[in-house]
Amino acid sequence: MHVHVVGNACVDTMFRVGRFPAAGETLNASSYADGLGGKGANQSVAAARTGAAVTFWTALGKDRAGAWIRSRLDRELSDLEASEFDLPSDRSTIVIEASGENFIVSGVACSEAFDPIAQTALARRIAFGDILVCQGNLRAAAINACLRAARQNGARTVLNASPIDAAALPDFGLAQVLVVNQSEAKALTGQGDMAAAADALAAKGAGTVVVTLGAEGCLVLGPDQAGPRRLPAPRVEALDTSGAGDVFCGCLAGGLAKGMSVISALKFALAAAAIAVTRPGTLISCPSASEMAALID
Ligand code: ATP
Repeated sequence: MHVHVVGNACVDTMFRVGRFPAAGETLNASSYADGLGGKGANQSVAAARTGAAVTFWTALGKDRAGAWIRSRLDRELSDLEASEFDLPSDRSTIVIEASGENFIVSGVACSEAFDPIAQTALARRIAFGDILVCQGNLRAAAINACLRAARQNGARTVLNASPIDAAALPDFGLAQVLVVNQSEAKALTGQGDMAAAADALAAKGAGTVVVTLGAEGCLVLGPDQAGPRRLPAPRVEALDTSGAGDVFCGCLAGGLAKGMSVISALKFALAAAAIAVTRPGTLISCPSASEMAALID
């Protein structure tokens, strides 16, 4: 079984500052660096490290940033399907204050132009039993078209509804597994209680609803309304939780592709994400292929 991850890839430029600048002020950063980012990129790398066969479908600009992103992805993935556009590649500027607070500004021209079903061979490549994974970075219509094509071909669909654009949400009824974190669950349903939020998301048509609960693990409702059931996360000393949600989703998809049940794949994802939070960084904190193999054995 094959995993198809469809989503964004970008250059993340991270600046560390003592404090945020005031409007109109220029500050020097204490350190700065470029890294590979994008939820699609992160999840495809995590899925590939589980040992599953993974194709990552993404959109890059025909610029130096696009070439740089491609070279980074080529180190991690054996099958990269990057559509190229005469647009600037997606990029984010992430400013992190000494307190840990951050703000992020993103340029998303390629993600907005990307229509995988119209522009790539994705619909022909998704086979019966495959897993299709989407996140919220592409336009809702493009996400829906991918999910619909997967369902038509008999593939299973995982939708990580993150980030959310309340004005243009994908069709949750096309998701066999819907994954959201607590703030997304609350924003989407208005419910502060996560079991009630999961119920409300299931009522929107999602087959199995997974709400990630940070250090508390996750809550799963379904399939067929079974549950809700809480699955605990391993207790660890968390250092940096950024990217943990992407490790979780990539490993969930990889686990499903390797034939695990939804519950077994979630337990695997919890174990892998718990390793990721003990390390600094986003993609670089993702467990290695050998660490993933040790979790599966
Ligand atoms: P991200 O930090 O990537 O934005 P998120 O906000 O999308 O994450 P969370 O619910 O915070 O989602 O975390 C996702 C998963 O990562 C959790 O379900 C859990 O498995 C793992 N995780 C996060 N924080 C911790 C922690 N302190 N200890 C163990 N596991 C954790």
